[in-house]
Amino acid sequence: MNLKDIRIAIDGPASSGKSTVAKLIAKDFDLIYLDTGAMYRAATYIALSNNLGDDAAQLIALLKENPISFGTSSEGQLVYTGEVDVTHAIRQNDVTNAVSGISAIPEIREYLVDAQRQIASHGGIVMDGRDIGTVVLPDAELKIFLVASVEERAERRFKENLQKGIETDFEQLKVEIAERDRKDSTRQVSPLKQADDAILLDTTGIGIAAVVAKIESYAKEV
Ligand code: C5P
Repeated sequence: MNLKDIRIAIDGPASSGKSTVAKLIAKDFDLIYLDTGAMYRAATYIALSNNLGDDAAQLIALLKENPISFGTSSEGQLVYTGEVDVTHAIRQNDVTNAVSGISAIPEIREYLVDAQRQIASHGGIVMDGRDIGTVVLPDAELKIFLVASVEERAERRFKENLQKGIETDFEQLKVEIAERDRKDSTRQVSPLKQADDAILLDTTGIGIAAVVAKIESYAKEV
Protein backbone atom coordinates (compact mmCIF):
# COMPACT_ATOMS: atom_id res chain seq x y z
CA MET A 1 0.00 0.00 0.00
CA ASN A 2 1.08 3.56 -0.68
CA LEU A 3 2.23 5.27 2.52
CA LYS A 4 0.28 8.42 1.68
CA ASP A 5 -2.99 6.46 2.00
CA ILE A 6 -2.19 4.60 5.20
CA ARG A 7 -4.46 4.97 8.24
CA ILE A 8 -2.59 4.67 11.50
CA ALA A 9 -4.58 4.35 14.74
CA ILE A 10 -2.70 5.18 17.94
CA ASP A 11 -4.57 4.47 21.16
CA GLY A 12 -3.54 4.32 24.77
CA PRO A 13 -4.02 5.76 28.24
CA ALA A 14 -3.58 9.42 29.22
CA SER A 15 -0.17 10.97 28.57
CA SER A 16 1.34 7.85 27.02
CA GLY A 17 2.93 10.03 24.31
CA LYS A 18 0.29 9.36 21.64
CA SER A 19 -0.09 12.87 20.32
CA THR A 20 3.63 13.70 20.28
CA VAL A 21 4.38 10.50 18.39
CA ALA A 22 1.36 10.82 16.08
CA LYS A 23 2.27 14.39 15.08
CA LEU A 24 5.83 13.42 14.18
CA ILE A 25 4.73 10.43 12.10
CA ALA A 26 2.12 12.54 10.29
CA LYS A 27 4.80 15.11 9.46
CA ASP A 28 7.33 12.52 8.25
CA PHE A 29 4.79 10.73 6.03
CA ASP A 30 2.84 13.85 5.05
CA LEU A 31 -0.43 12.52 6.50
CA ILE A 32 -3.33 14.31 8.18
CA TYR A 33 -3.05 14.30 11.97
CA LEU A 34 -6.19 14.14 14.08
CA ASP A 35 -6.11 14.53 17.85
CA THR A 36 -9.49 13.07 18.81
CA GLY A 37 -8.86 13.82 22.49
CA ALA A 38 -8.88 17.53 21.57
CA MET A 39 -12.40 17.03 20.16
CA TYR A 40 -13.69 15.51 23.43
CA ARG A 41 -11.91 18.28 25.30
CA ALA A 42 -13.50 20.98 23.10
CA ALA A 43 -16.95 19.44 23.68
CA THR A 44 -16.24 19.40 27.43
CA TYR A 45 -15.18 23.04 27.32
CA ILE A 46 -18.49 23.97 25.68
CA ALA A 47 -20.41 21.92 28.26
CA LEU A 48 -18.60 23.58 31.18
CA SER A 49 -18.79 27.12 29.85
CA ASN A 50 -22.53 26.78 29.24
CA ASN A 51 -23.33 24.87 32.44
CA LEU A 52 -24.86 22.04 30.44
CA GLY A 53 -24.13 19.23 32.89
CA ASP A 54 -24.55 16.04 30.88
CA ASP A 55 -27.34 17.35 28.64
CA ALA A 56 -26.26 15.68 25.41
CA ALA A 57 -28.97 17.22 23.18
CA GLN A 58 -28.00 20.77 24.14
CA LEU A 59 -24.32 20.02 23.80
CA ILE A 60 -24.76 18.55 20.32
CA ALA A 61 -26.85 21.59 19.30
CA LEU A 62 -24.03 23.87 20.44
CA LEU A 63 -21.43 21.70 18.69
CA LYS A 64 -23.42 22.03 15.47
CA GLU A 65 -23.57 25.80 15.87
CA ASN A 66 -19.87 25.97 16.79
CA PRO A 67 -18.15 23.13 14.93
CA ILE A 68 -14.77 21.92 16.14
CA SER A 69 -12.00 22.72 13.70
CA PHE A 70 -8.21 22.75 13.64
CA GLY A 71 -5.62 25.24 12.46
CA THR A 72 -1.86 25.59 12.68
CA SER A 73 0.47 28.19 14.11
CA SER A 74 4.21 28.36 14.69
CA GLU A 75 3.54 26.95 18.18
CA GLY A 76 1.63 23.94 16.87
CA GLN A 77 -1.94 22.91 16.31
CA LEU A 78 -4.81 25.26 17.13
CA VAL A 79 -8.29 24.08 18.15
CA TYR A 80 -11.45 26.11 17.54
CA THR A 81 -15.10 25.81 18.45
CA GLY A 82 -16.81 27.99 15.88
CA GLU A 83 -14.63 31.11 15.67
CA VAL A 84 -13.28 30.80 19.21
CA ASP A 85 -9.69 29.64 19.75
CA VAL A 86 -9.91 27.11 22.61
CA THR A 87 -6.38 25.67 22.18
CA HIS A 88 -5.24 26.65 25.67
CA ALA A 89 -8.59 26.47 27.45
CA ILE A 90 -9.06 22.78 26.63
CA ARG A 91 -5.77 21.84 28.36
CA GLN A 92 -6.69 23.43 31.69
CA ASN A 93 -7.37 21.26 34.75
CA ASP A 94 -11.13 21.92 34.81
CA VAL A 95 -11.53 20.44 31.32
CA THR A 96 -9.03 17.61 31.95
CA ASN A 97 -10.90 16.50 35.06
CA ALA A 98 -14.36 16.68 33.46
CA VAL A 99 -13.59 15.20 30.03
CA SER A 100 -14.04 11.53 30.98
CA GLY A 101 -17.60 12.28 32.10
CA ILE A 102 -18.53 13.99 28.84
CA SER A 103 -16.76 11.41 26.68
CA ALA A 104 -18.76 8.62 28.34
CA ILE A 105 -22.06 10.00 26.94
CA PRO A 106 -23.06 7.72 24.02
CA GLU A 107 -24.69 10.48 21.90
CA ILE A 108 -21.60 12.67 22.17
CA ARG A 109 -19.36 9.80 21.11
CA GLU A 110 -21.62 8.99 18.18
CA TYR A 111 -21.53 12.61 17.03
CA LEU A 112 -17.75 12.97 17.33
CA VAL A 113 -16.97 9.53 15.87
CA ASP A 114 -19.00 10.49 12.78
CA ALA A 115 -16.97 13.69 12.45
CA GLN A 116 -13.72 11.73 12.90
CA ARG A 117 -14.64 9.19 10.21
CA GLN A 118 -15.51 12.00 7.83
CA ILE A 119 -12.07 13.56 8.32
CA ALA A 120 -10.47 10.12 7.77
CA SER A 121 -12.40 9.65 4.53
CA HIS A 122 -10.11 12.23 2.90
CA GLY A 123 -7.11 9.89 2.81
CA GLY A 124 -4.04 8.93 4.80
CA ILE A 125 -4.24 9.86 8.44
CA VAL A 126 -2.69 9.37 11.85
CA MET A 127 -5.39 9.48 14.50
CA ASP A 128 -4.79 9.27 18.23
CA GLY A 129 -7.31 8.56 20.97
CA ARG A 130 -8.81 5.75 23.00
CA ASP A 131 -11.12 3.90 20.57
CA ILE A 132 -9.56 4.54 17.17
CA GLY A 133 -8.44 0.96 16.52
CA THR A 134 -11.54 -0.60 18.12
CA VAL A 135 -14.38 1.68 16.94
CA VAL A 136 -13.49 4.69 14.79
CA LEU A 137 -11.25 2.95 12.23
CA PRO A 138 -11.52 -0.79 12.95
CA ASP A 139 -9.99 -1.50 9.53
CA ALA A 140 -7.01 0.86 9.94
CA GLU A 141 -3.91 -0.55 8.25
CA LEU A 142 -1.75 -0.09 11.36
CA LYS A 143 -2.89 -0.04 14.98
CA ILE A 144 -0.63 0.83 17.87
CA PHE A 145 -1.46 0.69 21.57
CA LEU A 146 0.97 2.90 23.50
CA VAL A 147 1.45 2.39 27.21
CA ALA A 148 3.88 3.67 29.86
CA SER A 149 4.03 3.56 33.66
CA VAL A 150 1.81 6.04 35.55
CA GLU A 151 4.94 7.52 37.15
CA GLU A 152 6.52 8.29 33.79
CA ARG A 153 3.28 9.56 32.28
CA ALA A 154 2.79 11.91 35.22
CA GLU A 155 6.35 13.18 34.76
CA ARG A 156 5.72 13.87 31.07
CA ARG A 157 2.45 15.65 31.76
CA PHE A 158 4.09 17.64 34.58
CA LYS A 159 6.78 18.91 32.21
CA GLU A 160 4.24 19.64 29.48
CA ASN A 161 2.08 21.59 31.91
CA LEU A 162 5.09 23.59 33.11
CA GLN A 163 5.83 24.58 29.51
CA LYS A 164 2.21 25.61 29.05
CA GLY A 165 2.23 27.58 32.31
CA ILE A 166 -0.36 25.28 33.91
CA GLU A 167 0.31 24.79 37.62
CA THR A 168 0.15 21.19 38.83
CA ASP A 169 1.09 19.10 41.82
CA PHE A 170 3.00 15.98 40.79
CA GLU A 171 1.38 13.55 43.26
CA GLN A 172 -2.07 14.91 42.42
CA LEU A 173 -1.29 14.50 38.73
CA LYS A 174 -0.54 10.81 39.25
CA VAL A 175 -3.86 10.31 41.02
CA GLU A 176 -5.75 12.22 38.29
CA ILE A 177 -4.11 10.30 35.45
CA ALA A 178 -4.90 6.95 37.09
CA GLU A 179 -8.46 8.06 37.74
CA ARG A 180 -8.97 9.24 34.14
CA ASP A 181 -7.65 5.87 32.88
CA ARG A 182 -10.00 4.05 35.22
CA LYS A 183 -13.01 6.03 33.97
CA ASP A 184 -11.97 5.73 30.32
CA SER A 185 -11.38 1.98 30.61
CA THR A 186 -14.56 1.12 32.50
CA ARG A 187 -17.16 3.19 30.62
CA GLN A 188 -19.98 1.33 28.86
CA VAL A 189 -19.46 2.73 25.36
CA SER A 190 -16.15 2.35 23.51
CA PRO A 191 -13.91 1.95 26.54
CA LEU A 192 -10.15 2.40 26.28
CA LYS A 193 -9.02 -1.05 25.15
CA GLN A 194 -6.30 -2.53 22.99
CA ALA A 195 -7.72 -3.80 19.68
CA ASP A 196 -7.01 -7.51 19.10
CA ASP A 197 -4.86 -6.65 16.08
CA ALA A 198 -3.03 -3.68 17.64
CA ILE A 199 0.70 -3.75 18.38
CA LEU A 200 1.45 -3.06 22.05
CA LEU A 201 4.35 -0.64 22.62
CA ASP A 202 5.52 0.12 26.15
CA THR A 203 7.30 3.48 25.99
CA THR A 204 8.49 3.52 29.62
CA GLY A 205 12.12 4.61 29.49
CA ILE A 206 12.14 4.87 25.70
CA GLY A 207 12.70 8.19 23.94
CA ILE A 208 10.16 9.66 21.51
CA ALA A 209 12.49 9.28 18.52
CA ALA A 210 12.85 5.52 19.09
CA VAL A 211 9.08 5.06 19.40
CA VAL A 212 8.49 7.05 16.21
CA ALA A 213 11.14 5.06 14.34
CA LYS A 214 9.58 1.78 15.45
CA ILE A 215 6.05 2.76 14.35
CA GLU A 216 7.37 4.11 11.04
CA SER A 217 9.13 0.82 10.38
CA TYR A 218 5.85 -1.05 11.02
CA ALA A 219 4.08 1.37 8.65
CA LYS A 220 6.60 0.68 5.90
CA GLU A 221 5.95 -3.06 6.27
CA VAL A 222 2.20 -2.65 5.74
O1 C5P B 1 -6.02 12.32 24.52
P1 C5P B 1 -6.49 13.20 25.66
O2 C5P B 1 -5.87 12.82 26.97
O3 C5P B 1 -6.39 14.64 25.36
O4 C5P B 1 -8.05 12.85 25.75
C1 C5P B 1 -8.88 13.48 26.68
C2 C5P B 1 -10.05 12.59 27.04
O5 C5P B 1 -10.93 12.45 25.93
C3 C5P B 1 -9.73 11.16 27.46
O6 C5P B 1 -9.39 11.06 28.84
C4 C5P B 1 -11.03 10.43 27.14
O7 C5P B 1 -11.97 10.60 28.19
C5 C5P B 1 -11.55 11.19 25.93
N1 C5P B 1 -11.27 10.51 24.67
C6 C5P B 1 -12.10 9.49 24.28
N2 C5P B 1 -11.94 8.90 23.07
C7 C5P B 1 -10.98 9.29 22.23
C8 C5P B 1 -10.09 10.32 22.61
C9 C5P B 1 -10.24 10.89 23.86
O8 C5P B 1 -13.00 9.10 25.04
N3 C5P B 1 -10.87 8.73 21.03
